[in-house]
Amino acid sequence: MPDATPPLSAIAPLLAPVTSLRGVGPQVAALLVRVTGGTRVLDLLFHLPESFVDRRARPTIRGAVRGQVGTLCVEVVRHEAPTNPRQPWRVVVTDGTGFAELVFFKPQRAQALAVGARLLVSGKLEQFADRLTIAHPDHIVPADQPERLPAVDPVWPLTAGLFPSQVRAAMVQALALIPPLPEWHDAALMRREKWPSFPDALRALHMPAEFPSPKARARLAYDELLAHQVAMVWVRNRERTRPGRPLPGTGVLRAEALRRFGHALTASQSEALGEIDADMAAPSRMLRLLQGDVGSGKTLVAVLAMLRAVESGAQAALMAPTEILARQHFRTLEAVSPVPAVLLTGSVKGVARRNARLAIAAGRVSIVVGTHALFQEGVEYRDLGLAVIDEQHRFGVDQRLSMGGKGAAADVLVMTATPIPRTLLLTQWGEMMVSRLREKPAGRVAIKTTLHSISLLEEVVEAMARALDRGERIFWVCPLVSESELLDVTAAEERYSALRQRFGNRVGLAHGRQDSALREGALAAFARGETQLLVATTVVEVGVDVPEASVMVVDHAERFGLAQLHQLRGRVGRGEAASFCLLLHDDGLGETARRRLLLLRDTDDGFVIADEDFRIRGGGDLLGKRQSGQPGWRLADPVEHEGLLQMANRDAALLLEKDPGLVGARGQAVRVLMKLFERGEAVRTLRAG
Ligand code: ADP
Ligand code: MG
Repeated sequence: MPDATPPLSAIAPLLAPVTSLRGVGPQVAALLVRVTGGTRVLDLLFHLPESFVDRRARPTIRGAVRGQVGTLCVEVVRHEAPTNPRQPWRVVVTDGTGFAELVFFKPQRAQALAVGARLLVSGKLEQFADRLTIAHPDHIVPADQPERLPAVDPVWPLTAGLFPSQVRAAMVQALALIPPLPEWHDAALMRREKWPSFPDALRALHMPAEFPSPKARARLAYDELLAHQVAMVWVRNRERTRPGRPLPGTGVLRAEALRRFGHALTASQSEALGEIDADMAAPSRMLRLLQGDVGSGKTLVAVLAMLRAVESGAQAALMAPTEILARQHFRTLEAVSPVPAVLLTGSVKGVARRNARLAIAAGRVSIVVGTHALFQEGVEYRDLGLAVIDEQHRFGVDQRLSMGGKGAAADVLVMTATPIPRTLLLTQWGEMMVSRLREKPAGRVAIKTTLHSISLLEEVVEAMARALDRGERIFWVCPLVSESELLDVTAAEERYSALRQRFGNRVGLAHGRQDSALREGALAAFARGETQLLVATTVVEVGVDVPEASVMVVDHAERFGLAQLHQLRGRVGRGEAASFCLLLHDDGLGETARRRLLLLRDTDDGFVIADEDFRIRGGGDLLGKRQSGQPGWRLADPVEHEGLLQMANRDAALLLEKDPGLVGARGQAVRVLMKLFERGEAVRTLRAG
């Protein structure tokens, strides 16, 4: 088959600056850049209309519906020139059913309309005094040239000083610059969806002959989603096939660890471990995300994976986001691991640090637990086989990938207690395979969640008094550290002093603006039971492990995200005692806010909560807008187009399976697509065609 693919240089005119278009000087260009977010002709083409004005309605003057856009077919009767320059110029017209008035503040336009001329006049129909009026008609064309009147007008997002006519004039030229392009989508898909071609879709939206079908929009969204997914899958494939090595394990250390642990694995844990084992046994490297609520037993799974690496003669490292968590993991490890581990965090200094580094470099220690320090300057592993990263969701793809870079190609296991919505998994975690822990170890008591209006605070405090007398331990979480004038938020400090008055020195305080020694001291005192009620900000969200805590009170719960509330709730119910979560909310809670809290009350499934939270907040702030270091979304909305996103994900995987180098006919076409959507950067190995 002859290769009909044009060289990538064919799209050069689309990558040229908008100033290459006639009539687009520096001033207009600056305005266009402001609204389109880019300087290229292509950015203009990606500036899709937000709506369309339908001009096909042809009412009579007598029958016209006021307030709507319509097109009148009229004859000019007379001009009413203004008597002073601040008044508009009026042109009276008729269609035989009545009289209407065209109002102009620019007399030149009015003067061009000869008395007796027959015209099509389109614009917003309004009633002033006793007359139907069109102020500044959008279009005026001779009645015998109806083809000059657009039936449907795109409404592009504009900015002050930029007019539709300028956008239209530039757009017409931009559309004409689109070169013949190969179809990059699968032929069967195109037949099934009945989508227009890429240029036709853009034309249908920017220069519509009729009301555009949703297919045009869908096609363009799919173009962008596919470009993104191909980049994701490409990176995933590249990373996963990077020469790794099999870590076959022997099972010896693991068996001993499980014996020491003393419980059987949950079904979820066994399943996840099975997936991890298969990855580790394979010669390519593992990139796997282990998701599960707090308390679902991820740490144990990670420890068993680390022991497999050690059994295979390699080293394993576990990185936590905070010192507290690192120490906690270290204790868990020491309790079950048959081989010694070393702790390396920011606070391990001097000789201890030097010794740890030397032991790691010499391979005298096989298991390392720590914070970022693990992957910082001067830490060299003799033979890192597995890197486990806990709570890594706040890091980007590059950072995730670089963790494994220390060893030749270490396996990477990321653990997160924040269930990641499906959409985000596909858009930002595309390089990872996913395992989920859906159930919790048996014997875990459910947490009873209740809602309380803040006006009933006294009752809540009295209930807490009884709980304290029973010896229970209570987290009381507040949104902010100090009173904000804008948001009437209960400050932790204020709540602390109120509760302290009531309960004396049984109350502690921990928040992010404290000196860290003070904060750690407060957390430790609570963990030891010296204080029983800890007022805190969300510093307790990540990994404060106090199994004796059985009550979680969240002040102004409506101010937290659902996923965050779920996370906070997970801080209790870790021990044997019946546990409670009390969500205190404002009196005037809106309907949506109430529904969110009710959802939290009624379900304990973190994945359901995450998807719902994502839907409520919309993907916008999380997904797009170039903040992720990737080009933002121009044509697609991964939340709105989730179905297409799933399709693109499968499509991309299949395409790269069949044509890993993107060298076939479709592969070549997809390269053009990647270039158009600037996803080629992610695929650095994609050379210009
Ligand atoms: P995560 O890391 O997911 O928050 P952890 O690994 O800290 O959860 O486990 C929470 C608690 O459950 C720990 O006390 C742990 O010892 C316990 N646990 C983990 N797996 C099991 C199991 N299979 N059976 C019983 N208890 C378990
Ligand atoms: Mg944990």
